[in-house]
Amino acid sequence: MRQQIVAGNWKMNKILEEGLELTRAILEKVEKPSGLVVIAPPYPYLRELGKMLKVRKHFHLAAQNCHQEEKGAYTGEVSADMLASVGCEFVIIGHSERRQYFKEKNEVLAAKVNVTLARGMRPIFCCGEPLHIREVDTHVGYVAKQLKASLFHLKEEDFKKVVIAYEPIWAIGTGRTATSLQAQEMHHAIRVLVAKKYGKIVADATPILYGGSCNAQNAADLFSQPDVDGGLIGGASLKAEDFAAIVAAMKK
Ligand code: PEP
Repeated sequence: MRQQIVAGNWKMNKILEEGLELTRAILEKVEKPSGLVVIAPPYPYLRELGKMLKVRKHFHLAAQNCHQEEKGAYTGEVSADMLASVGCEFVIIGHSERRQYFKEKNEVLAAKVNVTLARGMRPIFCCGEPLHIREVDTHVGYVAKQLKASLFHLKEEDFKKVVIAYEPIWAIGTGRTATSLQAQEMHHAIRVLVAKKYGKIVADATPILYGGSCNAQNAADLFSQPDVDGGLIGGASLKAEDFAAIVAAMKK
């Protein structure tokens, strides 16, 4: 079976004490996950949380973003090198909020993917269409363009480390989840695209996560789809009980 992953993206939520408490509660509630559990807290807590996660098998630390340049005069930014040095193993890249609010374009995201891989971390690359694209039924082509522009320049050995997260923008934080069939349709289409570029063996091994109002109630249905390999979770990752239930819904 492909690697299954549930990743929690805390976004800009929780002060340090709350984050530590949430992590303690998650570690207590999640006993033997059937796949990887990834937690992406805000930057200032990475090191401390990383120490807590490190002692537990299957738990991994992620950053929510990184800068595309290696280093230099970029006040307020954080490099891939820095993230690796505090124990990050994954970096979320191309989240729709970064694309929307920080105007991150496909080319910049390709550079972020490159620096992440160059520092030995794995990108969790987000793709997904806005509502108006879904409504005119061009969502597969839209996502294909995102993948081609930001990932398909990679050599096979690098691409193998990538995790893809399909996150329809109309489902993020809206309470409106894609149906499991809509998710499966897109995940399958993504896998076919990857197979065309890198071959079937690589495509079959690529984890493709679903994100967008995934919660304790709908996770099992979404994750039961053959091409859905877990989830990237926003809101529901902020409650230990809900997050643990989502982790428990991973394929066994
Ligand atoms: C996300 O932001 O990646 C996400 C999936 O958010 P939510 O689960 O809150 O929709």
